[in-house]
Amino acid sequence: MNPLTAAILRSGFFAGACLLLTIGLSGCGGPQKLPPSGVRVVPGKATVPRPQPPSVPQQPRVAPPVKPVQPKPQPAPTSPTPPPVVVQPQPSPVPAPVQPAAPPQWIPLRNWAAKQGLPAPVRVSQNAFQVRSATGGTFQLSVGTRVASWNGIKFHLGFAPTATNGLPFIHPLDAEKNLAPLLQVNRPVPRGRGIIVLDPGHGGQDVGTKSTLGQIFEKDYTLDMAKRLKPLLEQRGWRVVLTRTTDKGVELAERVLIAEQQQADLFLSLHFNSAGVGAAGLETYCLTPAGMPSTLTRNFSDPVNVALPGNARDYENMHLAMRVHRSLLQTVGMADRGVQHARFMNVLKTQRRPAILIECGYLSDRNEAKLIQSADYRQKLAQAVAKALE
Ligand SMILES: [Zn+2]
Repeated sequence: MNPLTAAILRSGFFAGACLLLTIGLSGCGGPQKLPPSGVRVVPGKATVPRPQPPSVPQQPRVAPPVKPVQPKPQPAPTSPTPPPVVVQPQPSPVPAPVQPAAPPQWIPLRNWAAKQGLPAPVRVSQNAFQVRSATGGTFQLSVGTRVASWNGIKFHLGFAPTATNGLPFIHPLDAEKNLAPLLQVNRPVPRGRGIIVLDPGHGGQDVGTKSTLGQIFEKDYTLDMAKRLKPLLEQRGWRVVLTRTTDKGVELAERVLIAEQQQADLFLSLHFNSAGVGAAGLETYCLTPAGMPSTLTRNFSDPVNVALPGNARDYENMHLAMRVHRSLLQTVGMADRGVQHARFMNVLKTQRRPAILIECGYLSDRNEAKLIQSADYRQKLAQAVAKALE
């Protein structure tokens, strides 16, 4: 962590600096902040009472047959100091197993596929299963790992699939929040009023990460890419607003506020990455659905059961993320680090519109830093994003 980043963290002013971290990953975001004043947030339940699923589907636990205490009419006291009332369990001639209130119903992958009208899963290795579809692509899920793929493109599940009697099961939240949106990836992103806010990460004192090639900073590349992307989107009929058009600092909350003021239909935050030795490739982030652990927490708390305003857009977030991620991979051919979920990114969590954050390569990787240094390459990145939004 460089002194500037440390200073930013200490001061609490943090406009999304990409950090070098001990976990070997870096992205963008910042410590949790309150939603900006003036931003109407979607009222949501404070918590989602979804219990953590077991790693393996279990039989319902048999709990002691204790039932809620039912006050019963007591006989009139016969003495001034009645004995303590002893609550007897309700008589139950045949003790029945107590059903859990809301057991996590892991879904047989076969059942999920059948419900979508897809063929039954095919085992392709010891732990990996594929579900093929002529129109919707091919899913591959592996027992014991949260990394899955759709048409060969990685995405990260909330829960590793499990197996019972050799048959794979998936968590219902993954079915709803991760798999279902991917069945629709070939459909265009809904346009609404056709307004998109592009958010060049960092700016001003917050330089973002530094290229391994020298005194070149993420904040300049993100602004350059936004300026390249703007006309490409305008050619496709979008009205485009940038959260900054010059090298200036913009608070994370203000970036969200700009999208709110514009009543934007989409929000797209642009970043470049940094990490320890060896990390390279593209990552696309969307907000973690409530009830699901994040792919990346970067030492921030990950309150799994909290529903954030942006969670109202879980389906569209995933749909948008995969469309953009796919287009980037197909256009520039970088290593695929997958569509991932994070909960700490302030520019995502209070959004009331589909919002994603893309990390367009690692400036800490010499090869990628060289590519990103090329204007032609940055133009390709912009073209890839624009193509995803046709
Ligand atoms: Zn960044």
